[in-house]
Amino acid sequence: MNDTWLAELREFIAIPSVSADPAHQDDLRRAAEWVRDFVKRAGGEAELVPYGSRDLVIGDIPASTNGADAPTIMIYGHFDVQPPAPLDLWESPPFELEERDGWFYARGIADDKGQLFTLLKAAELLRAENALPVNIRVVSDGEEEIGGHSVVEFLEQDERGADACIIFDGGMTRPEQPEFGLATRGLVGYHVTVRTGERDMHSGYYGGAALNAIHVLLQGLSALLARDGLLPDQLRVGRTALSEIEVASLKKLPSGAEILEDAGATPLDPKAEDDFYDRTWAEPSLDVNGIFGGKPDFVNTTLIVEAHARFTIRLAPGQDPDTVGGAAEKLFRAAVPQEADVTLERENSAPPGVFAPDSPAIQLGLEAFERAVGVRPILVRVGGTLPIYPALAAKGIPTIGTGFALRESNVHSPNERLRVEDVDRAVAAATELYKGLAALG
Ligand SMILES: [Zn+2]
Repeated sequence: MNDTWLAELREFIAIPSVSADPAHQDDLRRAAEWVRDFVKRAGGEAELVPYGSRDLVIGDIPASTNGADAPTIMIYGHFDVQPPAPLDLWESPPFELEERDGWFYARGIADDKGQLFTLLKAAELLRAENALPVNIRVVSDGEEEIGGHSVVEFLEQDERGADACIIFDGGMTRPEQPEFGLATRGLVGYHVTVRTGERDMHSGYYGGAALNAIHVLLQGLSALLARDGLLPDQLRVGRTALSEIEVASLKKLPSGAEILEDAGATPLDPKAEDDFYDRTWAEPSLDVNGIFGGKPDFVNTTLIVEAHARFTIRLAPGQDPDTVGGAAEKLFRAAVPQEADVTLERENSAPPGVFAPDSPAIQLGLEAFERAVGVRPILVRVGGTLPIYPALAAKGIPTIGTGFALRESNVHSPNERLRVEDVDRAVAAATELYKGLAALG
């Protein structure tokens, strides 16, 4: 890491591109312009492309070798950041890059401006040496932290495609063991409303004869819950089990027991610790996220006629939001009295994403990473939902999702940080990836 890099990174970090705060709209644009200008200085073309009220940066840095055979590698990172609040917990100002004890501290240094910078820097350096063997397509958005969909819309509409995509927006469980994320879970969420009468009633007069909406809600939700740790079969349709290669990765990860204990969590059932990775990577799960009705704050004897809940289902790789959502509605309705007025309103959904571990891009990527950092990455899944993954999968673009953030990087928290050495490691890894993926041509 030299002084030029440091000055550039400092300048990028200093733009407070907080997407959640309307007061920072201009800063988001400045961050987008910073990415655009970097791509241009690196010998490419780039522009801000408006999607709704926000800008994507779309750019291309052409290969300097390989001619017409050079494959196109998409790189993705986001230039927006989480709000820095609470400010008083920061030991140095969040938008001033500061180095302390081997770490860089700043909002966005790990998630994701610092990591995006390393992908851009590697392309710039290779291009300057006339040694860039792939065409780089830059795709960068400023609404990742607020769940924006503009990058998904762009991917759906972009007919050019790419031979592979690299995303540095994640990290590794342990600093010595890099990880490629091969799959993400999807999501389908509902707001349930139950009505069983015009107005709440006296439970002395009507209790035992009139239907209570809270009871109906509980019956419906109960029909969806896991038994022995697994959801009803109707909600498990389509899921794909872990591949052998993914199972092999588990040996290099903390055990389910450790993870649950670290989180202070209570295991769901006696098998939850042993089955942790199966449950969070290869099974759907359902959580009731909120339930409201009645008058829990007062001593009372009311028979309640209206109740609500929100629940979300994380979909395993291979599953389809419409199929699983439809099955959940059916199970709920079958479990409650027909006389109750039940509305199930679907609120959000995203498909799971899954990439084949044996695709040439992933295999070349594993070798490239090993050359750069000395360790072959393990292939893992991500229990969370990232809409860009299924969008890339739907386009048939194999994706290397990885990164250098650590569990101690305080992502989304005060004192966000990235190890100083990992900036160099990330640039080295990106460089080797570009060289290695040239073989896709
Ligand atoms: Zn991120």
